[in-house]
Amino acid sequence: MSHPNDPALRSFIPVDPESDFPIQNLPYGVFSTAALAAPRVGVAIGEYILDLWELEQDGRLNFGVGPGVFAGRFLNHFMSLGPKVWAATRARISELLRHDTDELRDNEALRKRALVPMKEARLHMPIMVSGYTDFYASKEHASNVGIMFRGKDNALQPNWLHMPIGYNGRASTVVVSGTKVRRPRGQLKPPGADLPIFGACRRLDFELEMGAVVGQASAMGETLTEAQAEAMIFGFVLLNDWSARDIQQWEYVPLGPFQGKAFATSISPWVVTSAALEPFRRHGPKQDPAPLSYLQQIEPNNYDIELEVGLRAASMNKPARISRTNFKYMYWSSVQQLLHHASSGCAMNIGDLLGSGTISGPEKGQRGSLLEISWNGTEPAEIASGITRTFLEDGDSLVMRGWCEGEGYRVGFGEVEGTIMPA
Ligand code: MN
Repeated sequence: MSHPNDPALRSFIPVDPESDFPIQNLPYGVFSTAALAAPRVGVAIGEYILDLWELEQDGRLNFGVGPGVFAGRFLNHFMSLGPKVWAATRARISELLRHDTDELRDNEALRKRALVPMKEARLHMPIMVSGYTDFYASKEHASNVGIMFRGKDNALQPNWLHMPIGYNGRASTVVVSGTKVRRPRGQLKPPGADLPIFGACRRLDFELEMGAVVGQASAMGETLTEAQAEAMIFGFVLLNDWSARDIQQWEYVPLGPFQGKAFATSISPWVVTSAALEPFRRHGPKQDPAPLSYLQQIEPNNYDIELEVGLRAASMNKPARISRTNFKYMYWSSVQQLLHHASSGCAMNIGDLLGSGTISGPEKGQRGSLLEISWNGTEPAEIASGITRTFLEDGDSLVMRGWCEGEGYRVGFGEVEGTIMPA
């Protein structure tokens, strides 16, 4: 039987070559429909969702682990079963969807129950987020921000090249694409003012990131090897780490971001598995100085994922592109972030979400935040004719997309969208 990543595989369901969801992808999500309101687990294929709960009911997906794996509101139950079950499930779904296997293709009754048009479905949060940690792992992003606030000679803090810098964020406000985001209020100290005020954020920003979804736990006191960390990452989502720059700037000394990041983090509804991303693994940039041994990696733990950010003001019909970059530029990989996270003996949980940190590339058009695009508000960006932005305005919608370019197909993430509501 062909490997699920074989570029030659085709499904009996027609899939546009530009679609994010060919048979080589098979990302997991949680959805419901008007006909059946209970959220359940499905896999995206072209413009359809394959309902895994229906297949499970029908005895087509059975790994001896009991029923109900795909009936839950989240992927956590399935993820808890571990990499062997993940691989077997992926192989089985691939087999069921192939153009040259008849089991589902020729079973009209089952096909009707198990294939749901995506446009008729509502997509929910795919995972119950146990903990959310956000990193700061793009050298280009950290350098841009450092130059802005500390000058060229002190752009990177002395620790930056020695470990993936991160902070513990809020799991409670990680939301799925399409959820509206209210402009946060907070304590700010306007330029020139002697005292802080409490009010609506004036410098609301996005951060283009990928989120690594941890699918296996590690025990408190246990450290990880590269192979263990790699095997624990179930997959990835697009992630927008909304940021209130003015709140952040006043509060962050000395303990780092707090309320400026706590109000919302948006993720895409489809979790693209590490298995599907396997053909797109790349070595990251050379790390100099060499990291301490617990952070050293042999495998190519970066990914070649094209990323695009669009902004649609309330008066615009469709988003205009404001950034185009790639995940492959990241200095610290998600595996290194997980190694570092567990290195103190910190327990990792199923459903932990690791934000990669803002993804900026070396070129000006590759910046992953408005802070960088508008250079801290000093260079307004032209979004469309007559529309400029330094930071986000009420009614603005931010859309991120990501995809890996295969030979004749793409393994994509869909999108993560969020619209700003007034404070
Ligand atoms: Mn961030």
